[in-house]
Amino acid sequence: MIQNSIILFIIGTVIGSFLNVLIYRIPIGKDFISGRSSCPKCYKVIPWYGLFPVFSYVFQRGKCLFCKEKISIQYPVIETISGLIFVGTSMFLYSPFLSIPDLTYWLFYIAIIEITLLLFVIDLKHFILPDSLVLSLLVAFGAYYLTTQILGISPDYVQSSLTIQNRLLGSLVIGGALFLLWFLSKGRALGFGDVKLMSVLGIIFGLKGGIIIFYMAMFIGLIVGLFLIFFKQADLKTKVPFGTFIGLSVLTYIFFYNQIISYVNFLILRAFTTV
Ligand SMILES: [Zn+2]
Repeated sequence: MIQNSIILFIIGTVIGSFLNVLIYRIPIGKDFISGRSSCPKCYKVIPWYGLFPVFSYVFQRGKCLFCKEKISIQYPVIETISGLIFVGTSMFLYSPFLSIPDLTYWLFYIAIIEITLLLFVIDLKHFILPDSLVLSLLVAFGAYYLTTQILGISPDYVQSSLTIQNRLLGSLVIGGALFLLWFLSKGRALGFGDVKLMSVLGIIFGLKGGIIIFYMAMFIGLIVGLFLIFFKQADLKTKVPFGTFIGLSVLTYIFFYNQIISYVNFLILRAFTTV
């Protein structure tokens, strides 16, 4: 059991260092498949012993081996978070070691969560949600859906209540409403990237899930905004990375699905019984 967690953590940190490469390369439009990583200051190619996630950073005391330029703390932090995601999902969602269906569910959520982590960081740093990543979410869902169909696996508990009609409705209603909001506010209320991301999330999580995710994202944004205004780090004109809040919301939705759905169902029931 503990060995499995250690293996998953190590794989997670390796994927995390790949995420760091993507975080650096996607916003500047660089090819992210070819080319070896190099120091952004002195451009020297990083040798093999500088590529161990987390470990290399600690070993080099956070500095480039050649020019001694400080390496951003983002690198080991993302690697560690990714490692923790690998372990956390296997403990709290599905274990990849149990059965083929569990492995399928786990791979799906790992893909969704790691892409969400990428969107979270890139929107936070650059205020963009790259199309390639939003599309990747859709591809991950397509692969999951096809796999369950081909292998005859019933969908996991988040996906099990959703029909194709519900997903299309979710995407159209949420995407349509946000598109209007984007259009009427001339892009001030939210970015077009947010509209596209929420349309894709409508397909993956259905109408109800999409609405809940959007609502929670606004709520998280409100709390963070008030916090920043209170500590004078922002005012009402400060640009906010809404995609970052959507990312947090997606993670909350996946990990606390049962609690969130039963609470929402309780609210709906109460609304209809008191009227
Ligand atoms: Zn350097």
